[in-house]
Amino acid sequence: MARWVLHVDLDQFIAAVEVLRRPELRGRPVVVGGDGDPAKRGVVSTASYEARAYGVHSGLPLRTAARRCPDAVFLPVDREHYEAVSDQVMAALRSFGVVVEVLGWDEAFLAVDGDPEAMAREIRDRVRAATRLECSVGIGENKLQAKLATGFGKPAGIFRLTGETWFEVLGDRPADALWGIGTKTAKRLGDLGISTVGELAAAEPVVLAEAVGPTIGPWLVRLAQGRDDSPVSDAPHVPRSCGRETTYQHDLDDWRDVRREVAQLARRVAQDVADDGRNAARVIVKVRFAPFITQTHGRTLDTPVTEAHRIEEAALAALDMFTRRRPVRLLGVRAEFVR
Ligand SMILES: [Mg+2]
Repeated sequence: MARWVLHVDLDQFIAAVEVLRRPELRGRPVVVGGDGDPAKRGVVSTASYEARAYGVHSGLPLRTAARRCPDAVFLPVDREHYEAVSDQVMAALRSFGVVVEVLGWDEAFLAVDGDPEAMAREIRDRVRAATRLECSVGIGENKLQAKLATGFGKPAGIFRLTGETWFEVLGDRPADALWGIGTKTAKRLGDLGISTVGELAAAEPVVLAEAVGPTIGPWLVRLAQGRDDSPVSDAPHVPRSCGRETTYQHDLDDWRDVRREVAQLARRVAQDVADDGRNAARVIVKVRFAPFITQTHGRTLDTPVTEAHRIEEAALAALDMFTRRRPVRLLGVRAEFVR
């Protein structure tokens, strides 16, 4: 196994890509989301550092973003272009001839030997030469350490985090600084009197198993200790699910319309499932009620299927599990594949 894991993360990737092709936007607050019209519904995909200073972040409704930052430039999401640039980034990373595990458009792990800082500088040079984009590189002895290190290197920096420096750097930080700990889990930990990474690392796995679950509890303790033995792998990513969703410009306030829309989304998803040559094992319906309350319900199929009518039935059965009848602003249907 390689001695070091490097985590490469492009700095505010989408915003940076947009600024590259519109240099006049440099230094201005830029918000990318939906079709770029903040008067319409949709959410922020990404915000430049200048926009983030106004409290704009991904997932925020575009309208709220426009209120918080009226001077922001709003742009539509251009997936094809981001994918093309991402391909250039990944080609630059693969040019080192080491194992590269792609995590997304703008993130990857590399397994390397030798001097990791020298390698990190060379990575930054090659990515910049190929794309004119800046990235940060985290260095660790495993993926967890490397991924967390990157955050300390941003923007455009290199940071090394190892078992030796782990607690010095992270010990007093809130537990949700860790990769994979969300606000919900952090709150449950808080109820146990655990608020920092150091406190979580010192917790009894048995106690946590009881409080948050037999698998996740002990895993959280290992996480807080900076332990991770998952290998850097370049095996192609196999999607576990596929889904479709629609944000409505006007709320659906008649439940019959909601049912009709869910049925239609389910048939589109069924087509995607069939196109992928997969079988759906479970169908999940997501409903976002106005103003912004999101709930999901799922239905497991008796036998895995591709037939559109079975997927539609399962989606409607899942929809029937919603008891709330408030106006709806977004609907989604997702099919989970057989593993
Ligand atoms: Mg990034």
